[in-house]
Amino acid sequence: MYIGGIEAGGTKINCAIGTTDGKIIEQTQFPTTSPEETAAKMLAYFRDKEISALGVASFGPIDINPSSPTYGSILDTPKSGWAHYNLIQTLKTEIKVPIVFDTDVNGAALAESYWGAAKNLSSCVYLTIGTGIGGGACIDGKLIHGLLHPEMGHIYVRRHPHDHYQGTCPFHHDCLEGLAAGPSIQKRLGISGAEIAEDHAVWDYISYYLAQAILNYTMILSPEVILLGGGVMKQQHLFHKIRQQFQEILADYIHRHPLPDDLESYIRFPELGDFAGLYGSLALALQK
Ligand code: ADP
Ligand code: ZN
Repeated sequence: MYIGGIEAGGTKINCAIGTTDGKIIEQTQFPTTSPEETAAKMLAYFRDKEISALGVASFGPIDINPSSPTYGSILDTPKSGWAHYNLIQTLKTEIKVPIVFDTDVNGAALAESYWGAAKNLSSCVYLTIGTGIGGGACIDGKLIHGLLHPEMGHIYVRRHPHDHYQGTCPFHHDCLEGLAAGPSIQKRLGISGAEIAEDHAVWDYISYYLAQAILNYTMILSPEVILLGGGVMKQQHLFHKIRQQFQEILADYIHRHPLPDDLESYIRFPELGDFAGLYGSLALALQK
């Protein structure tokens, strides 16, 4: 029995067919253009495929409340043409199997719980630090939803004393996403993160903000592992800096807590790596 997955990102779409034990049989990728053109390509891909359920892991914010009149739509996104587009309604015109719709990061957290870094644990937080910052949490096999879905990037953090950048978030300016996502690095310095030396002060700012965020998620959700993915985490030296800063601001609180001394297994790269989102869409399909 096969399942289908769509990872809908702001710049590209991945579609895949997989097995229920998490093996990808085939996949395709195309750029995210207008919603109508993009959805038509998704439908064309699945037209001749035999699947028993489809998972759609999307950039957010999205309406995932099945009793809402706008269930299945993308909410207020700056992505041109996509705000209030109902992707799931369009997919349902042709795809007659159950569809599970959730955020890309919730999907990734679920996939890491099934097949990745959290497979022997009962909880994890998955955070992506890319064009934006988003997070999902899987606790005892269940994804956190609630009012909408978690928006872990839009939390407030204490400023690094040497960082005077105003922040990129159009809503909050200097929330975590505004201060630590990829575009904030590029806008501070005029060059992309990939070109900035490891010893540049900006990495101290970024790791200070991410360490605070991780401290907050730790205190609120008590996950057994925190996975950091996304383009910015290609800077592997950040892991060491983040763990150090986290240790410092944790300040020996809960020192009997079962956190490992070196934090290497607590704050780490996702095991499914760049594919966490695509596996996430398949993991979502499995919920039906
Ligand atoms: P998206 O969030 O759009 O799905 P990514 O996770 O690839 O995509 O994140 C893109 C962001 O990550 C961009 O802001 C880019 O500048 C930044 N980025 C990509 N590669 C690196 C790198 N090696 N070092 C630092 N930043 C990077
Ligand atoms: Zn914000």
